[in-house]
Amino acid sequence: MASKKSEAYREFQRRAGVEMRKAIRQGLLERPDLCSRCGKRPFDKAIQGHHWTYDLPLDVEWLCCLCDIEAHHYGNYAIP
Ligand SMILES: [Zn+2]
Repeated sequence: MASKKSEAYREFQRRAGVEMRKAIRQGLLERPDLCSRCGKRPFDKAIQGHHWTYDLPLDVEWLCCLCDIEAHHYGNYAIP
C-alpha cells in the first residue's frame, strides 16, 4: 500500500516532468539525441531527462533508458 509520503513524492516527480516538457516546447531546454552517460542513442525510446532533484525541474541529465534505470537503481536522488 502506498504511503502518503510516496504519493506526494510521485506528484512532485510528475510536476518536474511537466515543467521539463514545457521548457522543451518553449525551447528553453534541448533534448539531445545521445545519452550523456554512455554516449549511445537509445534504440527504442527518446532520451529521458533524469532529475537529480525535483526542486530543479530544468536541471536534468539526459540518459538513455538503460542509464536511467541504473540511475534509479543506485538511488542518486537528493530526495529519498
Ligand atoms: Zn546511456
